[in-house]
Amino acid sequence: MLVFTTIDSLQTQLNKERGTIGFVPTMGALHDGHISLISSSLDQSDFTVCSIFVNPIQFNKTSDFENYPVTLEMDKEKLEAVGCHALFLPSFEEMYPTGKGKSFDFGQLSSVMEGAYRPGHFDGVASVIERFFDIIEPDFAFFGEKDFQQLAVVSKLVENSGIKTSVVGCPIVREKNGLAMSSRNQRLSKVEKEVASEIYKGLLDMKSNFRNISVEGAKSSYIAWIDAHEIMEVEYIEIVDGKSLMPIKKWEDTTICMAFTAININGVRLIDNLTLFK
Ligand code: AMP
Repeated sequence: MLVFTTIDSLQTQLNKERGTIGFVPTMGALHDGHISLISSSLDQSDFTVCSIFVNPIQFNKTSDFENYPVTLEMDKEKLEAVGCHALFLPSFEEMYPTGKGKSFDFGQLSSVMEGAYRPGHFDGVASVIERFFDIIEPDFAFFGEKDFQQLAVVSKLVENSGIKTSVVGCPIVREKNGLAMSSRNQRLSKVEKEVASEIYKGLLDMKSNFRNISVEGAKSSYIAWIDAHEIMEVEYIEIVDGKSLMPIKKWEDTTICMAFTAININGVRLIDNLTLFK
């Protein structure tokens, strides 16, 4: 695998490539969820670039940024093993020549859920992705549905700015117990990982039982499900239209219904989502 730390050296290589370019942006501490995106890119494009860049401006809490896991040597081994062609490790200075990101208008999309609870988060995400797309000009870019709202924001970014990259969404990869894989899971103990599996189990329970109760009732039951475990705290549980991501009041308000949640477990913030019906 080729490793690049400067924009110039990466672009020199990309200029030699004749086929399609697939791109997988990550913040490292790679797990099987990330590797599934690399595999999709390898399947669908001729040359796959993975980036590892812990983007400081998308963190709204300094402590979350400072505690973000870094496992570069292991990441390289995993990327080599799956057959990734290139790894890009840019510096902050090259990514942000002016020292800061930009502001974007994604309308209501960035005002709910992650947008509401993590002010500035999507401006940070869109700034870094726009910059990467400008540098790499990928034909395809692969994003996980674990960060479903991020996938929607990036799709909107592409639509608004006329970028030619096709944005591809990839399914959530889970641990055996159902916990959505996340780099932040590395900060959980074995016991905490077991308790955290209730995040998904509670969503599955909602999917099985929602027809008998109201939207508000389904949210209250979920909160009770999580609150039954002392170390977990619900930041939000929302039931939304799967296209606009706007909260619904009644089940009849949508034909694609999704539940989204953010949970804190001993200071580690985890998110998950599930389609209830479509
Ligand atoms: P991150 O390194 O957390 O910024 O994630 C990089 C990419 O991997 C994003 O597109 C995420 O949505 C995706 N990703 C993270 N976890 C998973 C997972 N469990 N399953 C599928 N994709 C994931």
